[in-house]
Amino acid sequence: MLQTKGYAAMTAKAALTHFSFERRDVGPRDILITVTHCGICHSDIHQARDEWGGSLFPMVPGHEIVGTVARVGKEVKTFKTGDRAGVGCFVDSCRSCDACKEGQEQYCEAGMLLTYSGRDQAGHITQGGYSNQIVVDAQYALRIPQALSAAGAAPLLCAGITTYSPLRHWGVGKYHKLAVVGLGGLGHMAVKIARALGTEVTVLSTSEKKRQDAMRLGASHFEITSQPGTLAKLQRHFDFIIDTVSAPHDYNALVNLLKTDGTLILVGAPEQPTPLEPFPLILHRRSIAGSVIGGIRETQEMLDFCAEHHIESDVEVIPIQQVNEAYERVLKGDVRFRFVIDLASLR
Ligand code: NAP
Ligand code: ZN
Ligand code: ZN
Repeated sequence: MLQTKGYAAMTAKAALTHFSFERRDVGPRDILITVTHCGICHSDIHQARDEWGGSLFPMVPGHEIVGTVARVGKEVKTFKTGDRAGVGCFVDSCRSCDACKEGQEQYCEAGMLLTYSGRDQAGHITQGGYSNQIVVDAQYALRIPQALSAAGAAPLLCAGITTYSPLRHWGVGKYHKLAVVGLGGLGHMAVKIARALGTEVTVLSTSEKKRQDAMRLGASHFEITSQPGTLAKLQRHFDFIIDTVSAPHDYNALVNLLKTDGTLILVGAPEQPTPLEPFPLILHRRSIAGSVIGGIRETQEMLDFCAEHHIESDVEVIPIQQVNEAYERVLKGDVRFRFVIDLASLR
Protein backbone atom coordinates (compact mmCIF):
# COMPACT_ATOMS: atom_id res chain seq x y z
CA MET A 1 0.00 0.00 0.00
CA LEU A 2 1.09 3.58 -0.64
CA GLN A 3 1.17 5.98 2.31
CA THR A 4 -0.58 9.13 1.18
CA LYS A 5 -1.14 12.57 2.70
CA GLY A 6 -4.23 14.65 2.19
CA TYR A 7 -6.88 16.89 3.68
CA ALA A 8 -10.14 15.27 4.71
CA ALA A 9 -13.53 16.01 6.18
CA MET A 10 -13.83 13.44 8.96
CA THR A 11 -17.61 13.98 9.32
CA ALA A 12 -20.28 16.02 7.52
CA LYS A 13 -19.73 19.73 8.04
CA ALA A 14 -16.42 19.25 9.89
CA ALA A 15 -13.58 21.51 8.75
CA LEU A 16 -11.04 19.73 6.56
CA THR A 17 -7.93 18.61 8.42
CA HIS A 18 -4.67 16.84 7.69
CA PHE A 19 -5.23 13.13 7.06
CA SER A 20 -2.92 10.21 6.27
CA PHE A 21 -4.27 7.19 4.43
CA GLU A 22 -3.27 4.32 2.17
CA ARG A 23 -3.81 3.96 -1.54
CA ARG A 24 -3.63 0.66 -3.41
CA ASP A 25 -0.36 -0.41 -4.97
CA VAL A 26 0.09 0.33 -8.66
CA GLY A 27 -1.54 -2.59 -10.51
CA PRO A 28 -0.63 -3.67 -14.07
CA ARG A 29 -3.17 -1.24 -15.63
CA ASP A 30 -2.68 1.59 -13.15
CA ILE A 31 -0.64 4.74 -13.08
CA LEU A 32 0.54 6.59 -10.00
CA ILE A 33 0.17 10.36 -10.33
CA THR A 34 1.99 12.85 -8.14
CA VAL A 35 -0.74 15.46 -7.78
CA THR A 36 0.45 19.00 -8.43
CA HIS A 37 -2.90 20.83 -8.64
CA CYS A 38 -6.51 20.18 -7.70
CA GLY A 39 -9.47 22.49 -8.27
CA ILE A 40 -12.13 23.18 -5.66
CA CYS A 41 -15.54 22.43 -7.16
CA HIS A 42 -18.75 23.46 -5.43
CA SER A 43 -19.65 19.74 -5.52
CA ASP A 44 -16.75 19.15 -3.11
CA ILE A 45 -18.53 21.41 -0.65
CA HIS A 46 -21.96 19.83 -1.21
CA GLN A 47 -20.43 16.40 -0.59
CA ALA A 48 -18.08 17.27 2.28
CA ARG A 49 -21.16 18.69 4.03
CA ASP A 50 -23.35 15.77 2.95
CA GLU A 51 -25.89 18.11 1.38
CA TRP A 52 -26.93 15.53 -1.24
CA GLY A 53 -26.98 12.59 1.21
CA GLY A 54 -24.91 9.41 0.91
CA SER A 55 -21.49 10.96 1.54
CA LEU A 56 -18.81 8.57 2.80
CA PHE A 57 -16.33 9.68 5.49
CA PRO A 58 -13.52 10.27 6.04
CA MET A 59 -13.61 12.16 2.73
CA VAL A 60 -10.65 13.58 0.84
CA PRO A 61 -12.49 15.66 -1.78
CA GLY A 62 -11.15 16.79 -5.14
CA HIS A 63 -12.00 15.71 -8.69
CA GLU A 64 -10.18 18.29 -10.79
CA ILE A 65 -6.79 16.64 -10.54
CA VAL A 66 -3.63 17.33 -12.54
CA GLY A 67 -0.20 15.90 -11.85
CA THR A 68 2.81 14.05 -13.14
CA VAL A 69 2.98 10.33 -13.76
CA ALA A 70 5.41 8.83 -11.22
CA ARG A 71 4.98 5.13 -11.99
CA VAL A 72 3.20 3.03 -14.63
CA GLY A 73 1.84 -0.51 -14.41
CA LYS A 74 3.44 -3.04 -16.75
CA GLU A 75 0.46 -3.24 -19.14
CA VAL A 76 0.07 0.54 -19.53
CA LYS A 77 0.92 1.80 -23.00
CA THR A 78 -0.73 5.23 -22.95
CA PHE A 79 1.36 6.99 -20.29
CA LYS A 80 5.00 6.99 -19.31
CA THR A 81 6.81 8.32 -16.27
CA GLY A 82 7.07 12.10 -16.37
CA ASP A 83 3.95 12.67 -18.51
CA ARG A 84 1.29 15.00 -17.23
CA ALA A 85 -2.02 13.33 -16.44
CA GLY A 86 -5.42 14.32 -15.16
CA VAL A 87 -8.26 12.66 -13.25
CA GLY A 88 -11.83 13.93 -13.24
CA CYS A 89 -14.97 12.94 -11.37
CA PHE A 90 -14.88 9.16 -11.79
CA VAL A 91 -12.19 6.48 -11.73
CA ASP A 92 -14.05 3.37 -12.92
CA SER A 93 -17.35 2.06 -14.30
CA CYS A 94 -18.72 -1.36 -15.30
CA ARG A 95 -17.15 -1.18 -18.80
CA SER A 96 -19.80 -3.48 -20.28
CA CYS A 97 -23.17 -1.64 -20.31
CA ASP A 98 -24.32 0.30 -23.38
CA ALA A 99 -23.31 3.63 -21.86
CA CYS A 100 -19.79 2.42 -21.07
CA LYS A 101 -19.41 0.87 -24.53
CA GLU A 102 -20.44 4.20 -26.07
CA GLY A 103 -17.84 6.04 -24.00
CA GLN A 104 -20.47 7.66 -21.81
CA GLU A 105 -19.21 6.15 -18.57
CA GLN A 106 -20.85 8.96 -16.60
CA TYR A 107 -24.19 7.30 -17.40
CA CYS A 108 -22.97 3.76 -16.58
CA GLU A 109 -25.98 1.63 -15.67
CA ALA A 110 -24.14 0.19 -12.68
CA GLY A 111 -23.13 3.70 -11.61
CA MET A 112 -19.74 5.29 -12.16
CA LEU A 113 -17.21 4.91 -9.36
CA LEU A 114 -16.71 8.44 -8.06
CA THR A 115 -13.17 9.70 -7.59
CA TYR A 116 -14.00 10.26 -3.92
CA SER A 117 -16.89 9.24 -1.69
CA GLY A 118 -17.32 6.09 -3.75
CA ARG A 119 -16.73 2.47 -2.73
CA ASP A 120 -14.39 0.45 -4.94
CA GLN A 121 -14.56 -3.27 -5.66
CA ALA A 122 -12.32 -4.05 -2.70
CA GLY A 123 -14.80 -2.21 -0.47
CA HIS A 124 -12.54 0.77 0.19
CA ILE A 125 -13.76 4.37 0.12
CA THR A 126 -12.23 6.22 -2.82
CA GLN A 127 -10.29 9.38 -1.94
CA GLY A 128 -9.78 12.42 -4.16
CA GLY A 129 -7.23 14.94 -5.19
CA TYR A 130 -6.67 17.08 -2.10
CA SER A 131 -3.73 14.72 -1.65
CA ASN A 132 -0.15 14.26 -2.74
CA GLN A 133 -0.74 11.25 -5.02
CA ILE A 134 -3.42 9.11 -6.61
CA VAL A 135 -3.47 5.66 -8.22
CA VAL A 136 -5.86 5.30 -11.13
CA ASP A 137 -6.54 2.87 -13.95
CA ALA A 138 -4.87 4.46 -16.98
CA GLN A 139 -8.08 4.09 -19.02
CA TYR A 140 -9.75 6.56 -16.67
CA ALA A 141 -6.93 9.13 -16.79
CA LEU A 142 -6.67 12.06 -19.20
CA ARG A 143 -3.76 13.51 -21.12
CA ILE A 144 -3.10 17.19 -20.39
CA PRO A 145 -2.09 19.02 -23.60
CA GLN A 146 1.26 20.84 -23.54
CA ALA A 147 -0.37 24.19 -24.28
CA LEU A 148 -2.27 24.22 -20.98
CA SER A 149 -0.82 25.19 -17.60
CA ALA A 150 -1.40 22.63 -14.86
CA ALA A 151 -3.33 25.05 -12.62
CA GLY A 152 -5.43 26.42 -15.49
CA ALA A 153 -6.19 22.92 -16.78
CA ALA A 154 -7.27 21.34 -13.48
CA PRO A 155 -10.79 22.89 -13.40
CA LEU A 156 -11.39 21.67 -16.95
CA LEU A 157 -11.64 18.13 -15.54
CA CYS A 158 -15.01 18.98 -13.99
CA ALA A 159 -16.13 22.56 -14.66
CA GLY A 160 -14.87 22.37 -18.25
CA ILE A 161 -16.40 19.04 -19.23
CA THR A 162 -19.67 19.70 -17.37
CA THR A 163 -20.32 22.72 -19.58
CA TYR A 164 -18.67 21.43 -22.79
CA SER A 165 -20.66 18.18 -22.87
CA PRO A 166 -24.19 19.68 -22.91
CA LEU A 167 -23.17 22.46 -25.29
CA ARG A 168 -21.98 19.80 -27.73
CA HIS A 169 -24.85 17.40 -27.05
CA TRP A 170 -27.46 20.05 -27.87
CA GLY A 171 -25.40 21.41 -30.76
CA VAL A 172 -25.22 24.92 -29.33
CA GLY A 173 -23.42 27.06 -31.88
CA LYS A 174 -23.28 30.09 -34.12
CA TYR A 175 -26.96 30.64 -34.68
CA HIS A 176 -28.01 30.38 -31.06
CA LYS A 177 -28.56 32.75 -28.20
CA LEU A 178 -27.37 31.17 -24.95
CA ALA A 179 -27.85 32.38 -21.38
CA VAL A 180 -25.41 31.23 -18.72
CA VAL A 181 -26.95 31.50 -15.26
CA GLY A 182 -24.44 31.93 -12.41
CA LEU A 183 -20.91 33.14 -13.09
CA GLY A 184 -18.88 30.81 -10.88
CA GLY A 185 -16.54 27.94 -11.70
CA LEU A 186 -18.89 26.21 -14.16
CA GLY A 187 -20.42 29.45 -15.44
CA HIS A 188 -17.14 31.06 -16.46
CA MET A 189 -16.14 27.92 -18.36
CA ALA A 190 -19.54 27.86 -20.10
CA VAL A 191 -18.97 31.43 -21.29
CA LYS A 192 -15.49 30.69 -22.64
CA ILE A 193 -16.44 27.44 -24.37
CA ALA A 194 -19.70 28.77 -25.85
CA ARG A 195 -17.85 31.77 -27.23
CA ALA A 196 -15.30 29.49 -28.85
CA LEU A 197 -18.26 27.68 -30.46
CA GLY A 198 -19.40 31.00 -31.91
CA THR A 199 -22.47 31.41 -29.68
CA GLU A 200 -23.85 34.75 -28.50
CA VAL A 201 -23.69 34.56 -24.70
CA THR A 202 -25.66 36.47 -22.08
CA VAL A 203 -24.65 36.06 -18.44
CA LEU A 204 -27.52 36.12 -15.95
CA SER A 205 -26.01 36.84 -12.55
CA THR A 206 -26.87 38.01 -9.05
CA SER A 207 -23.58 39.93 -8.68
CA GLU A 208 -23.25 43.33 -10.36
CA LYS A 209 -19.53 43.25 -9.57
CA LYS A 210 -19.01 40.42 -12.09
CA ARG A 211 -20.15 42.51 -15.08
CA GLN A 212 -16.70 43.45 -16.35
CA ASP A 213 -15.35 39.95 -15.89
CA ALA A 214 -18.28 38.51 -17.82
CA MET A 215 -17.53 40.74 -20.80
CA ARG A 216 -13.80 39.97 -20.60
CA LEU A 217 -14.58 36.23 -20.58
CA GLY A 218 -16.52 36.62 -23.82
CA ALA A 219 -20.15 37.43 -22.94
CA SER A 220 -21.96 39.87 -25.21
CA HIS A 221 -24.52 40.84 -22.56
CA PHE A 222 -24.75 40.81 -18.78
CA GLU A 223 -27.97 41.08 -16.81
CA ILE A 224 -28.79 41.08 -13.11
CA THR A 225 -31.73 38.73 -12.64
CA SER A 226 -33.06 40.50 -9.54
CA GLN A 227 -33.23 43.89 -11.24
CA PRO A 228 -36.81 45.00 -11.98
CA GLY A 229 -37.67 44.60 -15.64
CA THR A 230 -34.79 42.26 -16.56
CA LEU A 231 -36.87 39.09 -16.75
CA ALA A 232 -39.72 40.85 -18.57
CA LYS A 233 -37.30 42.24 -21.16
CA LEU A 234 -35.81 38.80 -21.89
CA GLN A 235 -39.06 36.80 -22.31
CA ARG A 236 -38.75 34.24 -25.17
CA HIS A 237 -35.25 35.44 -25.96
CA PHE A 238 -32.94 32.41 -25.68
CA ASP A 239 -32.55 29.13 -27.57
CA PHE A 240 -30.71 27.58 -24.63
CA ILE A 241 -30.08 28.39 -21.00
CA ILE A 242 -27.40 26.58 -19.02
CA ASP A 243 -28.08 26.89 -15.31
CA THR A 244 -25.00 26.48 -13.09
CA VAL A 245 -26.48 27.81 -9.85
CA SER A 246 -25.58 25.86 -6.71
CA ALA A 247 -28.45 27.02 -4.45
CA PRO A 248 -32.24 26.61 -4.75
CA HIS A 249 -33.82 29.22 -7.07
CA ASP A 250 -36.81 29.63 -9.36
CA TYR A 251 -36.53 27.60 -12.58
CA ASN A 252 -39.92 28.82 -13.79
CA ALA A 253 -38.68 32.36 -14.23
CA LEU A 254 -35.91 31.01 -16.46
CA VAL A 255 -38.24 28.80 -18.53
CA ASN A 256 -40.09 31.96 -19.55
CA LEU A 257 -36.89 33.33 -21.08
CA LEU A 258 -36.79 30.48 -23.63
CA LYS A 259 -38.09 30.73 -27.18
CA THR A 260 -40.54 28.08 -28.41
CA ASP A 261 -38.66 24.73 -28.45
CA GLY A 262 -35.94 26.19 -26.23
CA THR A 263 -34.14 24.08 -23.61
CA LEU A 264 -33.16 24.89 -20.04
CA ILE A 265 -30.15 22.70 -19.22
CA LEU A 266 -29.57 22.14 -15.51
CA VAL A 267 -26.04 21.40 -14.39
CA GLY A 268 -26.11 23.19 -11.02
CA ALA A 269 -27.26 20.78 -8.33
CA PRO A 270 -28.95 22.51 -5.38
CA GLU A 271 -29.75 20.31 -2.40
CA GLN A 272 -33.47 21.24 -2.36
CA PRO A 273 -36.09 20.58 -5.09
CA THR A 274 -37.94 23.47 -6.77
CA PRO A 275 -41.66 23.41 -7.76
CA LEU A 276 -42.28 23.48 -11.49
CA GLU A 277 -45.12 25.17 -13.37
CA PRO A 278 -46.28 23.09 -16.37
CA PHE A 279 -47.89 25.79 -18.52
CA PRO A 280 -44.79 27.77 -19.51
CA LEU A 281 -43.37 24.46 -20.78
CA ILE A 282 -46.55 23.24 -22.47
CA LEU A 283 -47.48 26.44 -24.26
CA HIS A 284 -44.11 26.83 -25.97
CA ARG A 285 -42.99 23.17 -26.24
CA ARG A 286 -40.00 24.03 -24.05
CA SER A 287 -37.79 21.43 -22.35
CA ILE A 288 -35.95 21.19 -19.07
CA ALA A 289 -32.99 18.83 -19.19
CA GLY A 290 -30.03 17.88 -17.03
CA SER A 291 -26.49 16.77 -17.74
CA VAL A 292 -23.68 15.30 -15.66
CA ILE A 293 -19.96 15.79 -16.50
CA GLY A 294 -18.87 13.80 -19.60
CA GLY A 295 -17.23 10.52 -20.58
CA ILE A 296 -13.48 9.92 -20.83
CA ARG A 297 -13.38 10.26 -24.62
CA GLU A 298 -15.33 13.52 -24.57
CA THR A 299 -13.26 14.87 -21.68
CA GLN A 300 -10.12 14.30 -23.75
CA GLU A 301 -11.79 15.99 -26.73
CA MET A 302 -12.66 18.96 -24.49
CA LEU A 303 -9.07 19.25 -23.22
CA ASP A 304 -7.78 19.23 -26.80
CA PHE A 305 -10.45 21.77 -27.81
CA CYS A 306 -9.41 24.06 -24.94
CA ALA A 307 -5.74 23.76 -25.91
CA GLU A 308 -6.58 24.64 -29.51
CA HIS A 309 -8.70 27.62 -28.49
CA HIS A 310 -6.34 28.83 -25.73
CA ILE A 311 -8.96 28.26 -23.06
CA GLU A 312 -7.95 27.75 -19.45
CA SER A 313 -9.84 28.36 -16.23
CA ASP A 314 -9.28 31.68 -14.44
CA VAL A 315 -7.78 30.46 -11.19
CA GLU A 316 -6.72 31.63 -7.76
CA VAL A 317 -4.00 29.25 -6.59
CA ILE A 318 -3.87 28.56 -2.84
CA PRO A 319 -1.91 26.35 -0.45
CA ILE A 320 -3.94 23.49 1.00
CA GLN A 321 -3.82 25.07 4.44
CA GLN A 322 -6.32 27.68 3.12
CA VAL A 323 -8.90 25.17 1.92
CA ASN A 324 -11.48 25.88 4.64
CA GLU A 325 -11.35 29.64 4.00
CA ALA A 326 -11.65 28.93 0.29
CA TYR A 327 -14.85 26.94 0.92
CA GLU A 328 -16.36 29.91 2.76
CA ARG A 329 -15.39 32.25 -0.07
CA VAL A 330 -16.92 29.94 -2.71
CA LEU A 331 -20.17 29.97 -0.70
CA LYS A 332 -20.12 33.77 -0.84
CA GLY A 333 -19.44 33.80 -4.58
CA ASP A 334 -16.08 35.42 -3.80
CA VAL A 335 -13.76 33.64 -6.25
CA ARG A 336 -12.49 34.57 -9.74
CA PHE A 337 -13.37 31.92 -10.83
CA ARG A 338 -11.91 28.74 -9.42
CA PHE A 339 -9.70 28.02 -6.43
CA VAL A 340 -6.96 25.58 -7.28
CA ILE A 341 -4.87 23.95 -4.57
CA ASP A 342 -1.12 23.82 -5.16
CA LEU A 343 -0.26 20.44 -3.67
CA ALA A 344 3.39 21.42 -3.25
CA SER A 345 2.07 22.96 -0.01
CA LEU A 346 1.40 19.45 1.33
CA ARG A 347 4.86 18.01 0.76
P1 NAP B 1 -19.74 28.19 -7.85
O1 NAP B 1 -18.38 28.47 -8.35
O2 NAP B 1 -20.06 28.41 -6.43
O3 NAP B 1 -20.78 29.00 -8.79
C1 NAP B 1 -22.16 29.00 -8.56
C2 NAP B 1 -22.70 30.36 -8.97
O4 NAP B 1 -24.11 30.34 -8.79
C3 NAP B 1 -22.23 31.52 -8.12
O5 NAP B 1 -21.00 32.05 -8.55
C4 NAP B 1 -23.35 32.53 -8.28
O6 NAP B 1 -23.16 33.26 -9.51
C5 NAP B 1 -24.58 31.66 -8.46
N1 NAP B 1 -25.36 31.55 -7.21
C6 NAP B 1 -24.95 31.08 -6.02
N2 NAP B 1 -25.95 31.12 -5.12
C7 NAP B 1 -27.02 31.61 -5.78
C8 NAP B 1 -28.37 31.87 -5.41
N3 NAP B 1 -28.82 31.62 -4.16
N4 NAP B 1 -29.21 32.37 -6.35
C9 NAP B 1 -28.78 32.62 -7.59
N5 NAP B 1 -27.49 32.40 -7.98
C10 NAP B 1 -26.64 31.90 -7.09
O7 NAP B 1 -20.11 26.64 -8.11
P2 NAP B 1 -19.64 25.66 -9.28
O8 NAP B 1 -18.46 24.90 -8.84
O9 NAP B 1 -19.66 26.38 -10.55
O10 NAP B 1 -20.85 24.60 -9.24
C11 NAP B 1 -22.17 25.03 -9.51
C12 NAP B 1 -23.16 23.91 -9.27
O11 NAP B 1 -22.96 22.90 -10.25
C13 NAP B 1 -23.02 23.21 -7.92
O12 NAP B 1 -24.32 22.89 -7.45
C14 NAP B 1 -22.25 21.94 -8.27
O13 NAP B 1 -22.47 20.89 -7.36
C15 NAP B 1 -22.85 21.63 -9.60
N6 NAP B 1 -22.04 20.76 -10.46
C16 NAP B 1 -22.69 19.93 -11.29
C17 NAP B 1 -21.98 19.14 -12.17
C18 NAP B 1 -22.69 18.25 -13.13
O14 NAP B 1 -22.08 17.35 -13.69
N7 NAP B 1 -23.95 18.49 -13.41
C19 NAP B 1 -20.58 19.18 -12.17
C20 NAP B 1 -19.95 20.07 -11.33
C21 NAP B 1 -20.68 20.88 -10.48
P3 NAP B 1 -23.51 34.83 -9.64
O15 NAP B 1 -22.69 35.51 -8.60
O16 NAP B 1 -23.11 35.14 -11.02
O17 NAP B 1 -25.00 34.94 -9.41
ZN1 ZN C 1 -17.05 19.10 -9.83
ZN1 ZN D 1 -21.31 0.72 -17.42
